[in-house]
Amino acid sequence: MTDRNLELFERAKRLIPGGVNSPVRAFRAVGGTPRFVQRAQGAYFWDANGKRHIDYIGSWGPMILGHGHPAVLEAVQKAALDGFSFGAPTEREVELAQAIVDLVPSIDMVRLVSSGTEAGMSTIRLARGATGRKKIIKFEGCYHGHADALLVKAGSGLATFGNPTSAGVPPEVVQHTLVLEYNNIVQLEAAFDAHGADIACLMIEPIAGNMNFVRASVPFMKRCRELCTQHGALLAFDEVMTGFRVALGGAQSVYARLIPGFEPDMTVMGKVIGGGMPLAAFGAKRAVMEQLAPLGPVYQAGTLSGNPVATACGLATLAEIRKPGFFEALSARTRALVDGLQAAANGARVPFSVDCEGGMFGFFLLPELPQHYQAVMASDGQRFNQLFHGLLDRGVYIAPALYEAGFVSAAHTQADIDDTVAAAAEVFRSLAQG
Ligand SMILES: *Cc1c(COP(=O)(O)O)cnc(C)c1O
Repeated sequence: MTDRNLELFERAKRLIPGGVNSPVRAFRAVGGTPRFVQRAQGAYFWDANGKRHIDYIGSWGPMILGHGHPAVLEAVQKAALDGFSFGAPTEREVELAQAIVDLVPSIDMVRLVSSGTEAGMSTIRLARGATGRKKIIKFEGCYHGHADALLVKAGSGLATFGNPTSAGVPPEVVQHTLVLEYNNIVQLEAAFDAHGADIACLMIEPIAGNMNFVRASVPFMKRCRELCTQHGALLAFDEVMTGFRVALGGAQSVYARLIPGFEPDMTVMGKVIGGGMPLAAFGAKRAVMEQLAPLGPVYQAGTLSGNPVATACGLATLAEIRKPGFFEALSARTRALVDGLQAAANGARVPFSVDCEGGMFGFFLLPELPQHYQAVMASDGQRFNQLFHGLLDRGVYIAPALYEAGFVSAAHTQADIDDTVAAAAEVFRSLAQG
């Protein structure tokens, strides 16, 4: 039988660098041939060989309803008939802005853009413009899109300015980016002690999904808030992944339940709000957002921003997840998955730990949940790859890298979860044998 995935990959590699339009799709971490998706429906996609997979990536988060939800399809089809793009404002942009402001109390105003990268980059510019300061704080293992100033890893020594993680980023461009260890209060305090008056914003994934799944501890988050307030820096939550995914009000609503009165100053959004279409946003209180052009001096623009088809898709998606009981059901399903995986690993005596919130989860081939990037990367990569390929062979598609989170959709049934856990149990047994 010819392998259509392999054929397409060989062709793609001649035409597209690495054969893919975003690096992690290339399976470089796990080896093997990427699955080219032919079509998807509900919790499944079919690859180019016609093989069905239970999908725990869901486009890296956006497909919270599963693929091809009828109400979303209808909204998108209707919007497409009325026009693809106008370069002039539309009613749906106002409706989507309203929905975001209603769901996220820390936000008074939003600007719509087309990707999380754009939203993160614009948030940094706005924070610098609004505060008149240069420096930003980020944490190792958090991803905020591929803007130059954010492609940076920790330098040697504590609380130093970082080194670029990509060629093509001059060191001067990241000289104002401080890179700290996630969940490390001592480093955080030292950074504010040394640079407090120059820090425009602290950007953080409140529940980090780009180093698998690592929560900011409550004391750490409290300290982030206190230090930002004390030094006049803006606390920017990157909720591109967690927004409308871990809870209707995002990760900030989770922390607000744990820390009375808690709110970030700025929020970066994407993924779920576009429902699978290119759409992202950033928002903050009115005084900050009014610094943006055309009202204020901070420039930001986009030809396709607030795209009418994308906003229709996003609005239809938000309408579904706002229905009573949606997140309770999604959370229960996700919890059933991670509990099942944990039990299967325990049964095979494979060291394993899990965590989840709403429809987002992570698991580690480690006996305890890691608290920061270095600990995540101490995972056994080879065993992860065996687990990945074992699941893939059995028609279960998880992220092809141990530092990525997973996603459950409303379309995943208990039977899908049961099949996944049964497949994992087989793979764990083979891992335990050698
Ligand atoms: C996906 C992601 C981004 C980047 O979004 P793109 O739409 O891929 O540019 C930024 N921040 C976080 C937390 C993300 O998960």
